Amino acid sequence: LRRFVFKSQFDGLPKHSDFELVEEPIREPAPNEVVLEALYLSVDPYMRVFARNVPTGGTMFGTQVAKVTKSKHPGYKEGDLVVGHLGWASHSVVNPDQVKSFGGEVAKPYILPDLGGVSPSTGLGVLGMPGNTAWFGLTKLCQPKPGETLVVTGAAGAVGSLVGQIGKILGLKVIGFAGTDEKVQWLEDDLKFDRAFNYKTVSVTEALKEAAPEGVDCYFDNVGGEMSSDVMNQMNTYGRVAVCGSISAYNATTPVLAPIVQPTIITKQLTLTGFVSSRWKDCWFEGIQQMLHFIQEDKLVVRESIVEGFEKMPDAFISLFTGDNTGKVVVKA
Ligand code: NDP
Repeated sequence: LRRFVFKSQFDGLPKHSDFELVEEPIREPAPNEVVLEALYLSVDPYMRVFARNVPTGGTMFGTQVAKVTKSKHPGYKEGDLVVGHLGWASHSVVNPDQVKSFGGEVAKPYILPDLGGVSPSTGLGVLGMPGNTAWFGLTKLCQPKPGETLVVTGAAGAVGSLVGQIGKILGLKVIGFAGTDEKVQWLEDDLKFDRAFNYKTVSVTEALKEAAPEGVDCYFDNVGGEMSSDVMNQMNTYGRVAVCGSISAYNATTPVLAPIVQPTIITKQLTLTGFVSSRWKDCWFEGIQQMLHFIQEDKLVVRESIVEGFEKMPDAFISLFTGDNTGKVVVKA
């Protein structure tokens, strides 16, 4: 069994030396325990934020798609594929009823529903947490109406690439911001965004004045910071903002103060809603089914950045902050 333990608290951009790979034998399961073998492991930006909950020497947290290789639990059988909070570990011996999420709540691994031939790795992406974040965050919080204009930041990432495509399915005009020209081209050519821009080389304000002279109605914010203020300043009265993430600030070593936009929020009567995807845990599988339907109807382009090899977990994680990924980053064990 190999697992990555957390060696030191992050300081700025995560480094390889923040993790240590340890090896130990796999023990036999006790009654009600299962042995799980990781097939695919997720790396997600939230790990940077919540790592402060992990004690030094503790296993790094996170979700994975794992195969049950032995079971002494009545709810699981050999061969089942599960999605669970099993951390950065190649194998786990756990009582599923006692598995906890990084927040400390019990989160029993769930058996992956039938994905109709779609890769089980998507259980960590479009058919899992990022997919539900995009679907519920956009539809429930931005409440888009056909013909409205949507802006999404982090547009070529796991969540953002789905938000924009769902926006197109719902009849919106979609404008995305991402960090390289290749990503911008992919968003416009393959994902059929109406417009996309490289936020590193254009002024967000000028780009929106040109691409959305009618004003922005819905804003799915993955990035935070100055870009958020710039987008909100281009919004229409009664605009809705789904405040999903603020990755621009996750590695900051001093507090990041975004330019003040309260006057805009007040005068334009914007609604900003922060959220975490577990808000929709009661309709989790409905979200997965909805996204699966979109895939089966060829309405979604699904892209994964698959990193081969469990030992590459830190590299995969760091790539989220250097912007090397397009789509969902998954490590294949
Ligand atoms: P992504 O796949 O989008 O990967 C992260 C991307 O963020 C990078 O590829 C990079 O793309 C961009 N990025 C990195 N640093 C910066 C920066 N300083 N400024 C602007 N962009 C940056 O990750 P996810 O789709 O998994 O997550 C996207 C956001 O959504 C994150 O903020 C995450 O925390 C949040 N999130 C929130 C959830 C919730 O429940 N609220 C659930 C899931 C995700 P680029 O090349 O464009 O810079």
